[in-house]
Amino acid sequence: MEKGKLFVFSAPSGSGKTTIVRYLLAQEELKLDFSISATSRAPRGAEVDGKDYYFLDVESFKNKINDQKFLEWEEVYANNFYGTLKSELERIWALGKHVVFDIDVVGGLNIKSQFPEETLAIFVKPPSLEEMERRLRNRQTDSEDKILERVAKAEKELSYAKDFDVVLVNDDLKVAKKEAFDLVANFI
Ligand code: 5GP
Repeated sequence: MEKGKLFVFSAPSGSGKTTIVRYLLAQEELKLDFSISATSRAPRGAEVDGKDYYFLDVESFKNKINDQKFLEWEEVYANNFYGTLKSELERIWALGKHVVFDIDVVGGLNIKSQFPEETLAIFVKPPSLEEMERRLRNRQTDSEDKILERVAKAEKELSYAKDFDVVLVNDDLKVAKKEAFDLVANFI
């Protein structure tokens, strides 16, 4: 099977990363497909199983860890497991497409270390922590506790930016989308 390229997008939640990733996936000429992660957290809002995530219960998730089905996995929040199934790469490469990951910084760097030549790792940075918190509140999908937990995590995540190939500051979304498109097109 021919290997495609891997594009890792990592960022604190509330950075606008998901919007940028969706935009790129819609650009057919780039031939990108989304690596659907598995998670043990519950679906949020309009999220669909097998599209946004493969939603698994904690036990099924742990069984897949034991069976070595994951390329990488993490317990991102207490009892909330997230991971990339090896079968996702095979599925997407078989379609002749490049893989896009929307995953956390540690998972992203893990993928990069396993596929150093094929991976472009992009860190999407919110203009500030204050702006990030404001975006999370506007989204109205998380409880106050969750928002504070995400902000605390973001502070730590920002320190990983230097380990990525590129840091993309999402100040103006239109500009950030264009920059992301060019980065991906050039790497292909
Ligand atoms: P959320 O619950 O907001 O969808 O995601 C929480 C965090 O888990 C985010 O930082 C997200 O990027 C990360 N995440 C999602 N999928 C994966 C994955 O497959 N592996 C890892 N390591 N993190 C992931």
